Amino acid sequence: MIGDALKAADPETYAFCRAEERRQDETIRLIPSENYVSKAVLEASSSVFTNKYSEGYPGKRYYEGQQVVDPLEQMTIDRAKALFGAEHANVQPYSGSPANLAVYLAFLKPGDKVMGLALPMGGHLTHGWNVSITGKYFVSVGYGVRKDTCRIDYDEVRDLAKKEKPQLLWAGGTAYPRLWDFPVMASIAKDVGARFVADIAHIAGLVVGGAHPSPVGVADVVTTTTHKTLRGPRGGMILCKTEYAQAIDRAVFPGLQGGPHVHNTAALAVALKEAAQPSFKDYAHQVVTNARAMAEGLMAKGFQVVSGGTDNHLILIDLSNKSVSGKVAAKMLDKAGIELNYNSVPFDTRKPFDPSGIRLGSPSITSRGMKEAEARQVALWIDRVVSQPTEDVAAAVRAEVQELTKKFPAPGIG
Ligand SMILES: *Cc1c(COP(=O)(O)O)cnc(C)c1O
Repeated sequence: MIGDALKAADPETYAFCRAEERRQDETIRLIPSENYVSKAVLEASSSVFTNKYSEGYPGKRYYEGQQVVDPLEQMTIDRAKALFGAEHANVQPYSGSPANLAVYLAFLKPGDKVMGLALPMGGHLTHGWNVSITGKYFVSVGYGVRKDTCRIDYDEVRDLAKKEKPQLLWAGGTAYPRLWDFPVMASIAKDVGARFVADIAHIAGLVVGGAHPSPVGVADVVTTTTHKTLRGPRGGMILCKTEYAQAIDRAVFPGLQGGPHVHNTAALAVALKEAAQPSFKDYAHQVVTNARAMAEGLMAKGFQVVSGGTDNHLILIDLSNKSVSGKVAAKMLDKAGIELNYNSVPFDTRKPFDPSGIRLGSPSITSRGMKEAEARQVALWIDRVVSQPTEDVAAAVRAEVQELTKKFPAPGIG
């Protein structure tokens, strides 16, 4: 819970912080890129390291007073390397997008060609989508998923890569509910002379918990956020082979960023320690178990789950057989205390701002200790609201949601 100094100094901001604590505590949070960090991570991220400038890397700084920061950052790097089994780690990227930009800066020149999963097929903006700097400064080719299975067809990716000859090949996405075959992607990159980058922003926690195959040692470079399934503070991280260490480090600083956000480094150190505990393996597997239970519950109620299920933490639903669009459903569910996002589905015939789908996931409810029974209950609530999207139904569901959330206090808050 937020402290007294804030309350005294700025009651307005304090009130917002308290209101958001309450909202996060009383809501079933299903946005698959979100989570709850522990109280320990919150404390580290609000530490006095926010006061410090530390441009450079441990032992090679451009400012004095690094007696404490240097060993902190080195310990964080060492924890990241040990946890992921990586040869090199850079823990300074401000977030996932800057981490990805650093990869472009390390390896490409403007106008070079990149290939990634297209945004409407579940990819990320920074993998070359046209409105992103990565699609404006680089030539970009998007691969997709098969229309019949909604899965990536690696033979198609290989054929496209052979034809297009990209210099950089991305794996990773934001709305892809299936496992990635990193070794096949690596072989495709090798075939065409591309560098292979695996962006595990969404699934990093599953990877370290053994619930998704790891690309470390398979991909040339691995990028990730630290705040999604990994349950760390807002931030990004790059893991790579030793041969790319210098190029990556130079791209992050001085190529792209100034001083690292050392308070987030401290919080990341804590999160990496938490993720190294045996209980985190249980967490990662429970995330997948809960997502599957939710997907099965939804399919039993006639929901069209894209690709027919999930292998990871997220579920994409095509609502075109229901009476509401993704946006209407998401807004009504929000009133019912169930927070998710509207999302395009592959081959969507509707516009991105009012698409056919919703995207949901299990990382946050699993962090609260919820299991399959609760995941199935959430599916029933979603069905009730989507079947009868009225204010009355939303209010009734909301009351039930609040009963359940009381029994599962949110980490860092309750
Ligand atoms: C979330 C995400 C990012 C971007 O992370 P931000 O921290 O929002 O900049 C990059 N790639 C993928 C695959 C993501 O899911």
